[in-house]
Amino acid sequence: MKTKIFQLINRLWITDSRQVTGNTADPQIGDVVFFAIQGEHHDGHDFIGELYQKGVRQFVVERSALTPERRTELMHYADATFFEVASSLQTVQTLAAEQRQNVHIPIIGITGSNGKTIVKEWLAQLLEGSHSHTDYVVAKSPKSYNSQLGVPLSVHQLNESHTLGIFEAGISKAHEMQALEAIIRPTIGIFTNIGTAHDEGFRTRKQKIAEKLRLFTHAETLIYCSDYAEIDEETHLLLKAVNPAIQVITWSLKGRQATYQGTLQSNQLTLIKSDGRSNQLLLPFADPASIENLLHCLVTMLTLHAWTTETLQARLNRLRPVSMRLEQKEGINNCVLIDDSYNNDVAGLQLALSYLNQQSTRSRRIVILSDVLQSGQPESDLYEQVSTLIRGNAIEQFVGIGPVLSRNAHVFAENSLFYPTTDAFLGQFSFNKLHDSTVLVKGARPFFFERIVARLERKVHGTVLEINLDALTHNLNYYREKVGPDTKLMVMVKAFAYGSGSTEVAQLLQFHRVDYLAVAYADEGITLRQHGIDLPIMVMNPAPETFDALLAYNLEPEIYSMRILREWGGFVQRAGSEERGAGEVAEQQRLTSVAHALLPAPRHLHLKIDTGMHRLGFLETELADVVAYLKNNPGLQVATVFSHLVGSDDPQFNAFSKQQYEAFLQSTTILESALGYRPTRHLLNSAGIVRFSEYKLDMVRLGIGLYGVEASGINQSALQTVGTLRTVISQIKTVRAGESIGYSRRVFLIMKLV
Ligand SMILES: *Cc1c(COP(=O)(O)O)cnc(C)c1O
Repeated sequence: MKTKIFQLINRLWITDSRQVTGNTADPQIGDVVFFAIQGEHHDGHDFIGELYQKGVRQFVVERSALTPERRTELMHYADATFFEVASSLQTVQTLAAEQRQNVHIPIIGITGSNGKTIVKEWLAQLLEGSHSHTDYVVAKSPKSYNSQLGVPLSVHQLNESHTLGIFEAGISKAHEMQALEAIIRPTIGIFTNIGTAHDEGFRTRKQKIAEKLRLFTHAETLIYCSDYAEIDEETHLLLKAVNPAIQVITWSLKGRQATYQGTLQSNQLTLIKSDGRSNQLLLPFADPASIENLLHCLVTMLTLHAWTTETLQARLNRLRPVSMRLEQKEGINNCVLIDDSYNNDVAGLQLALSYLNQQSTRSRRIVILSDVLQSGQPESDLYEQVSTLIRGNAIEQFVGIGPVLSRNAHVFAENSLFYPTTDAFLGQFSFNKLHDSTVLVKGARPFFFERIVARLERKVHGTVLEINLDALTHNLNYYREKVGPDTKLMVMVKAFAYGSGSTEVAQLLQFHRVDYLAVAYADEGITLRQHGIDLPIMVMNPAPETFDALLAYNLEPEIYSMRILREWGGFVQRAGSEERGAGEVAEQQRLTSVAHALLPAPRHLHLKIDTGMHRLGFLETELADVVAYLKNNPGLQVATVFSHLVGSDDPQFNAFSKQQYEAFLQSTTILESALGYRPTRHLLNSAGIVRFSEYKLDMVRLGIGLYGVEASGINQSALQTVGTLRTVISQIKTVRAGESIGYSRRVFLIMKLV
């Protein structure tokens, strides 16, 4: 067993079933190992069947997840191999640590509160290359893969061709670093800084620093800024005790004791080493955070080699800001652009393609890709792999830019286009033919793909509302954690997802597998269906004119009065009999089988109970009529019952909220016993989730909190800002105090602003 499982080191590791796109012709599918992990929100074991259908044959499964039913299910997959372990996560970690032991190159491990990803990306930008002995072939964590799972997946990328590894480690609570240390085993450590992030997971600041320092237990060198006095102290107190041989290299901008003393005059840096050697450099960024990150990079470079000032400056000049996320923009001819023009490696391509899959608001998908630089792999292997990824993701049109891609054109689909340079593409490509598509633009830095983005971007608005989907995911996870795994989640995407873009938000929510969506009107639901959303959708204002559409698009109405119940019931019944009329012949044939199997599945509806809001909804006294009607209409089924608190955000209404909760429970009890089944019950909105976890019942309805507003005000700092409005300043003018501005002299300047 032990030796067998170690064979998995050389396979392709997958922990997210969505990474396999379902092309069983994919030559790599035989190499895939799926690690089924029982996560907080999902159980990976639920996707084994799906992956088996897609051709995956190797699975690591957790003993505790193997119920008798599941074991029976797995027996059907006779030609698959299942490795039964106590913890799939620990197994991934063990395998990655084993893999790391066989690699003998410098490995840089980065931790700290902020800047880990930027320092990692910048170091890679500064050190990558293939021209001189100071150039490295770098393996690095994709994006911010720095968690208990992200780190082993990052380290797994290491292969014989790499000459340097750069990995980041992030922890949120005590005792997490030990596992990461064993996997990264950095030879050089960077401790970026210490701040308040994740304070809640630690007893004291010192404990947090101590935990982070564990990453360097076996390192040869540690780099940090001695202006962080606490890091300095704990390093000497704790780390030196367990790793006395470690070489500590420090820098300071404040004249504290350090290996390197830096002085800054705007962005001009003078860096003097304790042995007297000095460098004068012009930094490409001047904000304090960037300067700190740059100094970590420079000191790390100087630790690796003795560089000339000219080379250091030349390398600094090629740095570009690191955009942490893919940006989605409005394009010309009704296209949507996904701008990933800052970096290009295979791991990044895989991530960008899965984002493209998730966010395809247009049916056609196009990928514009540059040569992949410094992969360290033989050219033919590399482009075979790229082509497989492209084919596996149903890309309509592939555009390759660069000499290397051009000479490997034969491995790509026939309709693909190739251009030797970005200029050639801009000059020759027929931009008019590009329309109604989602276009991924992904290129390595030397190709300057921002020029392509500029050409494809629709430039009509000086003002842009930016929606940060990563922040949205963060907020979603915050509420998920609050409600726990046993309570379902309905997310309100009404009103254009609170102004954030309903289809994009819904696609993200579908990707994260929420249970239900809700919209205000049928047309909002139709738009979602037309963009590939197949989650159940509740429509809160189902006007009779839209009943046709509700049926056609499988949208589920909120029923709040006897009038609307009768109208909907009558409509469903008529629609059912027309359907049966049309299908009469078929029906005759099927009549020989079980008769009731002919009835269409009952239509889901959602009953709104009025427990005190006194707007829409049934009062308890009306429930007898509701039940009587439903009993006579077996074509209708109550999927959920719900009510709404009038003041969940405000403590002054706590007693009323409790009264509403109790009234709601009473109504649901009446319904359940009269109907003979148990609809899903839900009461809480965003503020309610934060303030009344005891009322969460079977499902909650998340609204404004997802979009970054914590309505109860208790936990605003736990949420991230989702929307940012950016605009262009047209003119700045100096106006004297006492003068007026604009129409009718209504605005007077009374204060002098300096
Ligand atoms: C909008 C809405 C919600 C969500 O409320 P938030 O305060 O935004 O969380 C919940 N339930 C119903 C019925 C709604 O209309």
